[in-house]
This record gives sequence, C-alpha cells and structure tokens, in this order.
Amino acid sequence: MKTSIATVSLSGTLGEKLEAIAAAKFDAVEIFENDLVTFNGTPADVRRACRDLGLDIVTLQPFRDFEGMPDGPRARAFARAERKFDVMQELGCDLLMICSNVAPDSLGGIDRAATDLRELGEQAARRGLRIAFEALAWGRHINDYRDSWEAVRRADHPAVGLVLDTFHILARKTDLGAIRAIPRDRIFLVQVADAPMLQMDYLSWSRHYRNFPGQGDFPLVDFMQALSVTGYDGPLSLEIFNDQFRAGSARSVAVDGHRSLRFLQDQLVLKLPPRSAVSGTAFVEFALDDGAATEFERLLAGMGFRRAGRHKSKAVTRWRQGDINLVVNREKEGFAHSFNIVHGSSVCALGLKVTNAAATFERATLLLDQPFHQPVAPGELDIPSVRGVGGSLVYFLDETGPLSRVWEIEFDETGDINEEAGLTRVDHIAQSMQYEEMLSWVLFYTSLLDLKKVPPQDVPDPGGLVVSQVIEAADGALRLVLNASQSQRTQSSRFVSEFFGSGVQHLALATDDMMQTVARLKRNGVALLEIPENYYDDLEAKTGLPADRIAELRAHNILYDRDGEAEYLQVYVRPSEQFFFEIVERRRGYRGYGAANAPVRLAAQARLSSTPDF
Ligand code: MG
Ligand code: MG
Repeated sequence: MKTSIATVSLSGTLGEKLEAIAAAKFDAVEIFENDLVTFNGTPADVRRACRDLGLDIVTLQPFRDFEGMPDGPRARAFARAERKFDVMQELGCDLLMICSNVAPDSLGGIDRAATDLRELGEQAARRGLRIAFEALAWGRHINDYRDSWEAVRRADHPAVGLVLDTFHILARKTDLGAIRAIPRDRIFLVQVADAPMLQMDYLSWSRHYRNFPGQGDFPLVDFMQALSVTGYDGPLSLEIFNDQFRAGSARSVAVDGHRSLRFLQDQLVLKLPPRSAVSGTAFVEFALDDGAATEFERLLAGMGFRRAGRHKSKAVTRWRQGDINLVVNREKEGFAHSFNIVHGSSVCALGLKVTNAAATFERATLLLDQPFHQPVAPGELDIPSVRGVGGSLVYFLDETGPLSRVWEIEFDETGDINEEAGLTRVDHIAQSMQYEEMLSWVLFYTSLLDLKKVPPQDVPDPGGLVVSQVIEAADGALRLVLNASQSQRTQSSRFVSEFFGSGVQHLALATDDMMQTVARLKRNGVALLEIPENYYDDLEAKTGLPADRIAELRAHNILYDRDGEAEYLQVYVRPSEQFFFEIVERRRGYRGYGAANAPVRLAAQARLSSTPDF
C-alpha cells in the first residue's frame, strides 16, 4: 500500500511539512486546505514542490457541508466544489475528500445524499477528477461508515468512492464486519489514526487527541484485518490531529508516523524480524568526567558494587553486583565524552539483553530508528546500537557469539573485592522527557521490542502534574518508566531543562532483603532520602501495619506500598546533581511502582533541592 500522511498532522509551513514528509520516506501526501490557503505561492508551486520531492498528492481535503442541502445552499455547495476542482487541477491531484454534513440546515436521507454525490461525481468525471465521501463521527445525518457506504453505493458512479477513517469508525465502536463486503475499487482512501480511550465528545477527541497507530488504544489491527479482506491496495494515510505533534518537530513526527505505519503493517503480515523479547538489562553506562567519576565510584562502592573490570584500551570501568553491571566511562573522546559535554554527568547508554541482537538491529533499521556506529578499536566488539531517548544509545546484546562474552573480550578482571549490599538486578529505569516526546518513545520501544504499555498515571509533584507511562515486559525483565510534564516547575521538567534534554533520571535496583541492604548502606555512610514523619503516621492509619514494622520503616526512611498480599519497599539514595538511585524490594509478586508514594518522594526531593547545601 502507498504510504501517505496529511499535512495537518505536522507543525511548520507547508514547505517545511512537505520536506519532512519526503525525508521520512512517505510515498504521498494529503494536502489540507488550510495549509494551501496560508501557503505563499500558487497550487502549481505546491505541485512542483511535491514532484521535486517525489511525493504524490492523494487528495485535497476537507470539503465540508456538501450533501443534503436545501435548494439555495445546494447550488452554492456545487459552485464551491467547482472552485475546488479548479484548484485540484492546478495541484495535479484527482481526488476531493468530502466529509459528511454537520450544517443545521442540512437534510437527511441516504437517497438525497446519493443523488448529490452522483451529480457531483458526474461533474468531477467531466474533468477527469473523483470524489470520496467520509462519515464524520459527529456528522449530522451520516455518522456511520455503513451509511456513507450506502450513499456511495446508491450514487453508483465510478468517480464516487468511499473514505474509511479509523477514528470515526473506532471512536463509535462501530462493528467492522460490513467493511469486508465493500468492493475494493469503491474504497478510494483509507485514513488511519489511533487515539487514547477517553470519555469526550467525538469532535474534541478527534481534533486534539488522535495519535499514530500503536500510540493509542484503538483496535487498529482488527480494522486492518477487515480491510485486507476487501483486497484494498490504495493509499494508507495518516490523518492525525494532535496538539503535541503540532508543537513538535515536523521531521521527527513524520518519521514516527512512517514508523507507526510500518509497525501496523507488520502486525498484519509479518515481514520484519519479530519484536524481540527482552530478558534483562545487560548494563547501564554513565558518561562522567574525572571529578564526577571519582565521587560516583565512591558511591557505587558504598552501595556494595565491586569494581570488576577495567577496559583493555579505554578509561572505562565495570562495576558489578548481582546481575547488575554499571559502566563508568571517563573517556576524553568518542560518543560518551560528547554526551557528557552536552548533558553533564549522565546515563549515556543502556544495554538490553535480547534474543537476537542482529535481528533486533535489522528490525530497528527497517522501522526507521536511527542506527549508531562509532569506530571500533582492535579487540573491541561492534555492538549493534540505535539512538534512544535524548540521543543516548540503546545497545543490543544476546547470548550467542562474541556478544555474550563482552566483559571477557573488552575488560580485564581487576580482582578487587567488596562486600555486597544484596542488590540483585535492575528493577526499572526511569526516563524524563519533554511532554511532546512521550508518544514518540512509547512507539519506539513498543514497535521494536516485545513490551507493553500500561495505562498512564498522573503523579502530583509540588511543581505540577507529571504523566508517568510505564512500558514493560510481561515477565518484568525490563521495566521502563517514562515521565513528562507540561509544567516547567516539576522535577521531571527541571531535569529535562538542566540536563539539556531527555534522559535517565533514576535507576531502580532490586534487593531481596531491604532491611539488610539499608543496614549495609548505613554502615557505609550512604545517605538515604529522608521521608517526613507524617508519612509514617498516615501509613499506620492506612495500612494497620503493626507498630514495630512502622517503626522499622520509619527508622530507615523506607516507603511502603501494598496491593492485596503483595508488598513494595522503596528507598532513595540521595542524588548528586540530577541523577539518583532507587532501591526496591518486591514481595509476593508486587507489580506496580509505588505510585501512591511518588508525591511524598517528589516533595522530599523538592525540599532537598531547594536547600543551599545541596
Ligand atoms: Mg478523515
Ligand atoms: Mg521508581
């Protein structure tokens, strides 16, 4: 199918939009009338620009309030259409998209609509043009695709066809069965959009919250399956009205759009290497300058990490505890160094354990993710990697071949020893990002890897609300928490501005014995975030936990959450600069992230960061 996107989906001027669409490798474009009206040039200029960029124009849209008008307005609607036909001929576009009438003076009746469509189709055909009819979910008389199809069917004219727009169909939860019976040559255009499930009027929902396939909650694969029965092979076009996209970068939103179409098509007919399961975090790499590295490594040692390896040729060390590998990179050149120059002390890369690293990298490339390469020194491995959040890297490692022996191949064992603190594995990785980027990273992770998103939550920070979106593997082997906020004063937003971009804000490490771990940290002089007394009074009232348990939690600044029998214990290691560690213990299969405690933690951190000695 030909891939297309409507210009309304992107920010910028029409020229900028078209360039972004071509750069994202779309085949075609829908010209939204407003973009044409505000364009500083003629339709013929747009035609040339599209031709030079290799883009077909699939339709000019929308043409509103056409069918079922009483006599006077009816004549004016036909005259209006003729002027659109003039523009289309200048544009070199043969299809006018008509959406169903919302005008209060319009009249109902399928036959009346069919008569109007037939007559306009005849006018269009005289100029070699076509028209296509779409049922808006909020159309006054026609708001169901089965009715728009019936109008098109009765119009019975080769220049009159149907538009199927997934938003209008799926927002109303219309049965998809009737799609299968529509002859494929009567469907002139298919517009695909996803959206979150919201309780809202159709118009506002459609105009502000549509998003790309895979970013929302609509059953688009079911729609595509019904469509495939028809044999339709015309344009598959993204028509996405979304406030975040219109505030975002046209180039990256366009790439996301094309990625979403490839992902959608791949769910129907598997062509790409499959989404890989992730069996864990292989490593987390920190880019630090010498001063910061020394301090950070002292903290790691205090947390029970052992310096296990020294890189054979670089200023890179491996710190290890349980299954956790933290890599400290203090190189003076290369990727980590330039990342450090831009962002300061930071996580510059994540290594993920996948089933097949080469296949995952190939899938990433085919999904238009950004591959990353840097020169590999002799004796080093070329680990497949792509750009992730904020320009950091995501490396893929697997259990086959040299990638399974990266530590032996690239590092010398130090022989250093340290007493462990019971930390076993990476529990979750929290990334803070610009609000506008969140849908982009949701799509990045879920299209590439076998991960699921869980419904997002609003978390109150003293500076405003933070949206928290979890993406996780079914078995919890990888858990990512994406945080973003529209308020500039939340810690999530402050991180993004002080860090000059999105990135890992905290890393949560798991223990099987929180009491033992915190005792060990205390002996080593590692300070934990102090939790206010009131929290424990409230916890006692809320949970009815025995007084001695409350006292124990209070003594160690441990946050507590419960879900049925399952329990969650959390502490925070006092952060240096923007990044911090969390330590968690999950008991009896606790699945959450202590959302109830997040406001308390955020308030405690906000107090800390406002004191001058911090
Ligand atoms: Mg539409
Ligand atoms: Mg956390």
